[in-house]
Amino acid sequence: MAYDVIVVGGGNAAFAAAASARDHGAKRVLLLEKAPREKRGGNTHFSGAIFRFRYDDVSELDRFVPDAERDYPGFHKGVQPYPLEAYRDDLMRVTQGRSDPELSTLLIESSYDTMCWMQEVGRHKFELALSVMGVRVGNEVKWPRGAMIRAVHEGVGLSKTWFETGEKLRIEIRYDTGAQRLTQDGSGRVTGVLARGPEGFATFDAKAVVLGCGGFETNPEWRLRYLGAPWDHAKVRGSNFNYGDGLKMALDIGAMPWGHWSGCHATPINAEAADYGVQNLTDKTNRLSYIFGIMLNVEGRRWVDEGADMNSFTYAKYGGMILKQPRSLVYQIFDSKVLELLEPRYATSEPFRADTLEGLVKQLKVDHIQALRTLQEYNRGAGHGGPFNPAQLDGLHTEGVDPPKTNWALKLDTPPYVAWPVTGGITFTFGGLRINRDAQVIATDWKPISGLFTCGEMVGGLFHYNYPLGTGLMSGAVFGRIAGRAAALSNA
Ligand SMILES: Cc1cc2nc3c(=O)[nH]c(=O)nc-3n(C[C@H](O)[C@H](O)[C@H](O)COP(=O)(O)OP(=O)(O)OC[C@H]3O[C@@H](n4cnc5c(N)ncnc54)[C@H](O)[C@@H]3O)c2cc1C
Repeated sequence: MAYDVIVVGGGNAAFAAAASARDHGAKRVLLLEKAPREKRGGNTHFSGAIFRFRYDDVSELDRFVPDAERDYPGFHKGVQPYPLEAYRDDLMRVTQGRSDPELSTLLIESSYDTMCWMQEVGRHKFELALSVMGVRVGNEVKWPRGAMIRAVHEGVGLSKTWFETGEKLRIEIRYDTGAQRLTQDGSGRVTGVLARGPEGFATFDAKAVVLGCGGFETNPEWRLRYLGAPWDHAKVRGSNFNYGDGLKMALDIGAMPWGHWSGCHATPINAEAADYGVQNLTDKTNRLSYIFGIMLNVEGRRWVDEGADMNSFTYAKYGGMILKQPRSLVYQIFDSKVLELLEPRYATSEPFRADTLEGLVKQLKVDHIQALRTLQEYNRGAGHGGPFNPAQLDGLHTEGVDPPKTNWALKLDTPPYVAWPVTGGITFTFGGLRINRDAQVIATDWKPISGLFTCGEMVGGLFHYNYPLGTGLMSGAVFGRIAGRAAALSNA
């Protein structure tokens, strides 16, 4: 046999698997990346690289962000612990109780330890995600618990460090080489992959294969098939290589589909964003500060509670809701009181501006009469409870307004007023394969498929309807690490 382990994919999950396989004694590890070198790294490259993980005490964060107290005085006092139960509550709340109990417990339990492993094996460097997660209140920065730490240089840094780690660990990397089919022996054991590379087709043999090659978010035909219309028209926030190839290869040999196949992660993004992620713009098209304003569709109506929860728990489902609005277009409207609270990513496009709400509405492609009526009704009902606190659910709500806004419901009364046009962009799909605790793929006869493991976006069952920010990369690292170890040990 030529290789001990073949890993398919070049993102965070695949590299965690490849590094872990080397860590556990696999000598010859081959990693196949379908993308050319300059487009390598999948969604991982485009990501904000924020990791959600458990910790029982804030001092456990010191190894990742040793300068936090110096840079943000009060950090240790201000950050709440994020124990296993809190992570589980968040995951179960947003997935309506459907997250696979066994896999989600494994994910949460292993999350802190896997972060430490990434730091040691991958030499990953981390920092506080100030621009996305930090909220300035007066002179202080407030941090949400659980998801506030990211890789330095975000996804670009995370991906680059993984490729450097791969080279250091002498993992053989082949670019421009897309796996197309799994090979099997007479017993059904997976023995390698057939792939198409720069020199044409080639079969690579191995004692075990780990599939870590993403979901089907790039594939309009599968999006229509599984998610329905209008998902075939959605803009793709990240990689244009994740066509569901790994899922197809595994389903073709009898793997069991698992999880929420009609579900996906999608976020509010700049309506003018390109059709696929742009390599040097990465995730900067996101528009996630809607909690401080309101959203109007082209009929001039609000259609969702913008302040239902912290945006890290609503952003991943609001993208889909925006996509389903008429013309998949909405406007996020703010007044000047909150402009300094908006994420810096808003600066990547110019908003419409005006000194009056009438003047603003006239510039938008909306029903002008209804839009103005909606803004006036909102203003009449806003401002109950509170006081306004951008760092937590503040109870500042509307009364007599439908749909209500349950937090941060400030009146829009301080010019200039601004509006950003926004659509929904797909990030990744939730449907995947069933695995056991060794990340081994299970077949539709409920038995494990010998020699086949999977990780990352290809794992089914974790996410349903929605998703807590920072869990995708954490899941990729946890199950990648498990898959690499199990693949290496399965043939030791
Ligand atoms: C804009 C954006 C921002 C995000 N921000 C965050 C964040 O801050 N925190 C977080 O937790 N998650 C975030 N995510 C989600 C996160 O990026 C994904 O959950 C994660 O990258 C998935 O890792 P993966 O390794 O499974 O897939 P990917 O990183 O997408 O990697 C898949 C790899 O497989 C390769 N491939 C595909 N088909 C084949 C084939 N046939 N043969 C060989 N290779 C193949 C691809 O080229 C790619 O290298 C974000 C995603 C996007 C798009």
